[in-house]
Amino acid sequence: MNNFEYTPPKNTPIESDKLLYDLKKVAEKLGTDILSQKLYLEYGKYDVTSFSRRFGTWREALSKVGLKPGNIFNYSDEELFENILNIWQYKGKQPIRKDLNFKPSKISQSPYNRRFKSWSYTLLSFVKYANGTDIQNIETPQISDSIKKINRDPSLRLRFKVLKRDNFSCKQCGVSPAKDKNVELHVDHIKPWSKGGETILENLQTLCQKCNLGKSNIE
Ligand SMILES: [Zn+2]
Repeated sequence: MNNFEYTPPKNTPIESDKLLYDLKKVAEKLGTDILSQKLYLEYGKYDVTSFSRRFGTWREALSKVGLKPGNIFNYSDEELFENILNIWQYKGKQPIRKDLNFKPSKISQSPYNRRFKSWSYTLLSFVKYANGTDIQNIETPQISDSIKKINRDPSLRLRFKVLKRDNFSCKQCGVSPAKDKNVELHVDHIKPWSKGGETILENLQTLCQKCNLGKSNIE
């Protein structure tokens, strides 16, 4: 073939700024600074190859707007479970897999898939852990009485116990995130920690943001 023929590209090249803006927009919408290609494919406007073509790599494009690529972190079980508890607390009920994509989740689906294979096994492992039943590879240190007094922040296990006991709803006014999306639950010391209240199940209660705020104003 001797003759070259010019064919205009099918799509006009997208401006770099527009590409980067869309990355930021998706990350903000999902409330995360870790953005995998898979996630972007689901929520983004452009083809992921536009980014590697323009910026060299996906990672490079992300770094331009202060984001990190997904799939590179190895999270500990504690971190994975902590994230699930946060979502559970936020929703006031058992999370579904898709919840991992949205605020307040900080970890995407992939690390869970790698560690637990399926979502049902993820949840089962979480519940076993939170309930204190040992599962493989997970340390469950016995909390001594002195530590209970020293630590202000209840452990994941303790928080889950408190929330579950209180049916994931405010002990004072009864609201729950399951019924009202604006409700945020806190685990609160009944007798304040600063006044010698211990971080034990009996001295902890679930309060919504409003009641918790009202309480600290009174004191
Ligand atoms: Zn309340």
